[in-house]
Amino acid sequence: MDRSGFLRIEGLRKSYDGVDALRGIDLELERGDFLSLFGPNGAGKTTLIRIIATLLKPSSGSVRVMDFDMEEHPEEFRARLGVISHQSFLYSDLSARENLEFYAALYGVSDPAAKAEELLGLVGLLDRADSKVSGFSRGMQQRLSIARALVNDPVLLLLDEPYTGLDQSASILLSSHLRRLHGQHRTIVMVTHDLKRGLEAASKVGILARGKLVYLKERGGIDPGEFEHAYLRYLKGVPDV
Ligand code: ATP
Repeated sequence: MDRSGFLRIEGLRKSYDGVDALRGIDLELERGDFLSLFGPNGAGKTTLIRIIATLLKPSSGSVRVMDFDMEEHPEEFRARLGVISHQSFLYSDLSARENLEFYAALYGVSDPAAKAEELLGLVGLLDRADSKVSGFSRGMQQRLSIARALVNDPVLLLLDEPYTGLDQSASILLSSHLRRLHGQHRTIVMVTHDLKRGLEAASKVGILARGKLVYLKERGGIDPGEFEHAYLRYLKGVPDV
């Protein structure tokens, strides 16, 4: 199987009323890559994830997944994505099970009830399956968001600070899910401020600073100590980009 060019981002720019959040991003990932993306506050990481997730339109540039262009083939493009972001995309008046069944039906999953049951088990929410999401703690909502993101069996997972709000046990659970999903040759892009977790999980590591991808390397060639040192310089804004 040809794994190259699985995700192709070319010349991506985004301005919000005069603020240049992304200033020309080019990025190509192979199928099965796990990119951990770091960067200071305001670097443009969430903007990038939201654009790939089709939640935000770029000012210019293109994004393709498996040769489906986000603008030319939006349905095919979206069908391949799973997203975990600051927004939970959950309906608070519905139970955990109803949320998952709703999304499974939306994506045309053949047996939504079975899919919901499977995913509730996977994220450890079976005992609260029939409670309304409005009564869920933040961590429980995050667990359910993880299940929701997996409902369509996505080949590309976009994760924006997925560890936020998770307790120790849920964090360990998420790390092991991500290892499993990566092992299944899914492609993952994860934005995180957690250097240790990000480096552990990744096959590639990137740094976004002031709207540009200023660093991109194979994880294998990175010494964690040196990386931390280099990254701190970006956090302090030392290198001019
Ligand atoms: P953080 O690590 O703090 O989450 P980030 O790297 O995810 O930051 P973004 O949220 O993508 O950064 O923001 C990039 C830039 O775009 C910032 O200057 C921010 O103020 C600006 N920005 C983001 N969203 C909007 C918006 N809706 N309207 C105007 N400016 C915005």
